[in-house]
Amino acid sequence: MKEITMIESGFALAGFTSGYEGIWSRNEPSDPPTNDYTALSKSLGVPLQNFIRPYQAGGDKVGTVTSEHGGSGVIKDNDLKKVDGLVTAEQSIVLSIIAADCVPVYLADEKAKVIGLLHCGRRSAAGELIHNTVERMKELGAAPQDIKLIIGPHICSKCYEVGEEVRTEYAKVFAPKELDSLFEQRGKSIFLSLTETIRLKAAAEGLSANNISSVNDCTCHDTAFYSYRRGDKGKQNLAYIMMKK
Ligand SMILES: [Zn+2]
Repeated sequence: MKEITMIESGFALAGFTSGYEGIWSRNEPSDPPTNDYTALSKSLGVPLQNFIRPYQAGGDKVGTVTSEHGGSGVIKDNDLKKVDGLVTAEQSIVLSIIAADCVPVYLADEKAKVIGLLHCGRRSAAGELIHNTVERMKELGAAPQDIKLIIGPHICSKCYEVGEEVRTEYAKVFAPKELDSLFEQRGKSIFLSLTETIRLKAAAEGLSANNISSVNDCTCHDTAFYSYRRGDKGKQNLAYIMMKK
């Protein structure tokens, strides 16, 4: 098991963990919670009724959640379907997403007391997920210049080989100069930096470069984490964030 603390302040707590088994929630609401969720609940001192996990679809949809959604996708049926981003202005609610190479993106506006968490694959990263999230956070009182964004562990640009079709897709969204900063040609292979993709998208939403940071951990070449590319099927890492009381 490997766990990284992403945020630990008087305001918020956030982390990224492989868990013991890498099994977080099931699709049947009647199932008991998995051991990993139970253990995390215990270590955070927050009941599973306060945890939320959306059914992720690699899209652009964002859900604004409150305590009414508590337990969704964790211990009860999920009303957050095809949702890849969560935002809340409530304390003691644990937002969570699963990822195995995709990017967990943590957002926090301490002034407005609003947080968010994204599951960002390559389509969402180049799509509208970050835009939609910042819009939802603004509805809750956040200001782009006050939002801090942290890019969590994901498949790094040394490991993330992609096909030419990905560059073609990205060319519809990014300028040629930007594409040069996102893709690297090595021999006949092309590699994509999801970190840089998210940085560009976040800057376009008015976030300050000083407020955007990333960790260097890679889920693919660090075998302590679960990685889809490396062959882990049905096992993921969990990203979570909560505002403290
Ligand atoms: Zn790597």
